[in-house]
Amino acid sequence: MENPVLTIVVPCFNEQEVLPETMKQLNQFLTQLIVEELVSEKSKVLFIDDGSKDDTWTIIYKYSLNHRHIRGLKLSRNAGHQNALLAGLFTAVETSDCLISIDADLQDDIHVMKEFIMKYHEGNEIVYGVRKKRDSDTFFKRSTAQAFYKLMKIMGTDLIYNHADFRLMSKRAVHELKHFSEINMFLRGIVPLIGFKSANVYYDRKERLAGETKYPINKMLAFSLEGITSFSVTPIRLVVLIGFLTFFISIMFGVYFLSLKFSGRTELGWTSLIASIWLIGGLQLIAIGLIGEYIGKIYKESK
Ligand code: UDP
Ligand code: MG
Repeated sequence: MENPVLTIVVPCFNEQEVLPETMKQLNQFLTQLIVEELVSEKSKVLFIDDGSKDDTWTIIYKYSLNHRHIRGLKLSRNAGHQNALLAGLFTAVETSDCLISIDADLQDDIHVMKEFIMKYHEGNEIVYGVRKKRDSDTFFKRSTAQAFYKLMKIMGTDLIYNHADFRLMSKRAVHELKHFSEINMFLRGIVPLIGFKSANVYYDRKERLAGETKYPINKMLAFSLEGITSFSVTPIRLVVLIGFLTFFISIMFGVYFLSLKFSGRTELGWTSLIASIWLIGGLQLIAIGLIGEYIGKIYKESK
């Protein structure tokens, strides 16, 4: 059997500080994999410039001119990490047997990719890179990430704990990904839905080699909201629940207010006013929740 053609897909957004080193290391590593006959001579590293404002594209372009395993893809604007990744996967899938996605900042140990390939040779179609510990991340990043995984679990989506976007996918798995024609893809949640035989590989995550994180707090929040709303209708169920609670509270208050009224301890008009505010509020929440349930159904269908 011929060695599989591998494409390593690397999304890059304003990564000029770290890119030269990343390119050098990935190129060396791929060459080594080829020499060891683990992957085909036709294998490539594909860098995706996600609409960077700095010299990222120039660096990719120049390097690709004198390194035959290096390729570049330039997006017309900043489409975001997940979309850049997808663009790379979909562009390279036709000419590859398996694809690995990895960040540009060398936080993920590139040598672990060798284990990915081994697992692929054992018949796994998806191999997840899982962080053993996150000592290198700041306390803030670590705790928010942990809270995120917990919240996702409560909301009913089972993510692979401590797995980010460092993974191998077979050609078949990436083709399956195409069936999810969503505009905003949360890959970590979708990839496990594909099925197929899969494996985990554990590694230590390092600190970013150079440059700054492209996920400041506002992007991180948006990203997790995306993850939650992409996969669950639990938030809307909570609204229904609160609606019912408010409704019952309003009934109880109603009785209480009436008793106050009949013992003559209230102002004129106060009882009816306050009771109707609670009652209408509760009914409205229930109604919104019900509408949400229907929208949730439509959403699942269209997914
Ligand atoms: N990235 C991207 N587009 C964006 C933001 C980030 O392609 O809009 C890339 C970035 O260049 C890096 C990867 O996504 O290769 C992960 O970003 P980063 O390392 O900053 O995230 P962190 O590791 O801090 O979560
Ligand atoms: Mg990073």
